[in-house]
Amino acid sequence: MDHHLSPEHEELRRTVEAFAHDVVAPKIGDFYERHEFPYEIVREMGRMGLFGLPFPEEYGGMGGDYLALGIALEELARVDSSVAITLEAGVSLGAMPLHLFGTEEQKREWLPRMCSGEILGAFGLTEPDGGSDAGGTRTTARLDEATDEWVINGTKCFITNSGTDITGLVTVTAVTGRTADDKPLISSIIVPSGTPGFTVAAPYSKVGWNASDTRELSFADVRVPRANLLGELGRGYAQFLRILDEGRVAIAALATGLAQGCVDESVKYAKERHAFGRPIGSNQAIQFKIADMEMKAHTSRLAWRDAASRLVSAEPFKKQAALAKLYSSTVAVDNAREATQIHGGYGFMNEYPVARMWRDSKILEIGEGTSEVQRMLIARELGLTS
Ligand SMILES: Cc1cc2nc3c(=O)[nH]c(=O)nc-3n(C[C@H](O)[C@H](O)[C@H](O)COP(=O)(O)OP(=O)(O)OC[C@H]3O[C@@H](n4cnc5c(N)ncnc54)[C@H](O)[C@@H]3O)c2cc1C
Repeated sequence: MDHHLSPEHEELRRTVEAFAHDVVAPKIGDFYERHEFPYEIVREMGRMGLFGLPFPEEYGGMGGDYLALGIALEELARVDSSVAITLEAGVSLGAMPLHLFGTEEQKREWLPRMCSGEILGAFGLTEPDGGSDAGGTRTTARLDEATDEWVINGTKCFITNSGTDITGLVTVTAVTGRTADDKPLISSIIVPSGTPGFTVAAPYSKVGWNASDTRELSFADVRVPRANLLGELGRGYAQFLRILDEGRVAIAALATGLAQGCVDESVKYAKERHAFGRPIGSNQAIQFKIADMEMKAHTSRLAWRDAASRLVSAEPFKKQAALAKLYSSTVAVDNAREATQIHGGYGFMNEYPVARMWRDSKILEIGEGTSEVQRMLIARELGLTS
């Protein structure tokens, strides 16, 4: 068992660490305050090849793996989570479904531009009536045999990267029929941005991730060619379970980055800030808090890397992904709360990165499967059924 990153992974880690420190850190606070999508930073991430990290070179990717994606996400989120989630959603929700389930033609049409960051893809699963129970999808897609087109109707909510100027497509899940015992058959369909009847609402006003794009989408008799079906008809449910299993590893890496960023900021501040005539970091109460935060970030890293290694070597990884997501999101919230406390009143001021980290941490216990859903998955893997 080797705990060291390969030279290529370590080189990537250093490159993204420097980018986050030199390019993201000085600029992102202003975008965040203005609730503005940071196009110039995202463009630069595209030039670096980050959106193509786990995809084959023949489709414009970097020929890397999911471990590489996690490493990049962790280093970005150490500094800022809005850019990290833009990358996470662009790769694991936007491009990965095409890579895993697309036809050769679909891959050639979409992946090269997604890998270069020229366009972003989104994944529309959640609906206003339910996210955790995604099998209850109400959006429908009916095949019009006369025109050979899908006709889509419904609403999706909270969809990341769905309304930017560079969004190229959203893959939506929709009911395309019913089984013999009247269960819904769900399929995934590619809807290009700008298709008539496809409306993208204004961005939500969010608690955190304020420099990322999240929208509600509505579909009113939206027509797309039959060939826009992604993967097999009726296999949409199984497809998104796979996408979410992988996505959880990526979110766990992102959460680890946030947890580590809280340690970085707290160590720095504890050395600089004086109270009662000495640095606050000379108090054991503060040292112990930071030591516990470091322990949690470290353990969280081991958990996501373990899940990623299993994924990369094609071993079962469902339980490890759920464990990593549950643990890392919990410690991200813990560390953000403690880092804010260590910063005192300044921790409540938006100009300090820890304030942003505090606001950005909570969603990690909700998105891509809530903590309750992770516990359900883990219990099921242990053989416990309801
Ligand atoms: C900023 C942001 C970005 C997002 N991006 C995307 C995206 O790109 N694509 C996408 O499809 N979705 C996206 N989502 C949606 C996200 O995945 C859902 O919000 C999440 O899965 C929870 O679904 P819900 O909000 O409908 O909550 P619900 O499913 O209604 O759950 C409400 C509460 O009930 C709990 N609960 C539900 N069922 C059970 C049960 N059986 N046992 C115990 N507790 C239960 C949940 O854990 C939760 O605490 C995003 C959300 C946000 C906020």
